[in-house]
Amino acid sequence: MPIYEFRCRACGKKVELLCPTGAQPGPCSACGGRLERIMSRFAHHRSLQSRLADIDTSRPPGDDYYRDERNIGLWARKRMQELGCDPGIDFDGVVERARQQVKEQLQD
Ligand SMILES: [Zn+2]
Repeated sequence: MPIYEFRCRACGKKVELLCPTGAQPGPCSACGGRLERIMSRFAHHRSLQSRLADIDTSRPPGDDYYRDERNIGLWARKRMQELGCDPGIDFDGVVERARQQVKEQLQD
């Protein structure tokens, strides 16, 4: 499923969601307002660094965050960077397995 970027018409919050083409997303997770799709041809091509830069580790990610399986591991990775921890050699492997599991669950 493609990733689309949406913005809440009420509060302006931006989210990226996995969404079947043409389907309407649910309401805004922050205020319940209606989400509208933002036409962004850059959304699909963001680098890992820019995705990491967007993460606010001062609070836990919301439920919507993990609907996008690409986000799994990013939050933890950034948190570890901030703490000066080495994620370890197998970190990417662990993340990849977690992503696969979520993908399989989404397909059920
Ligand atoms: Zn909102």
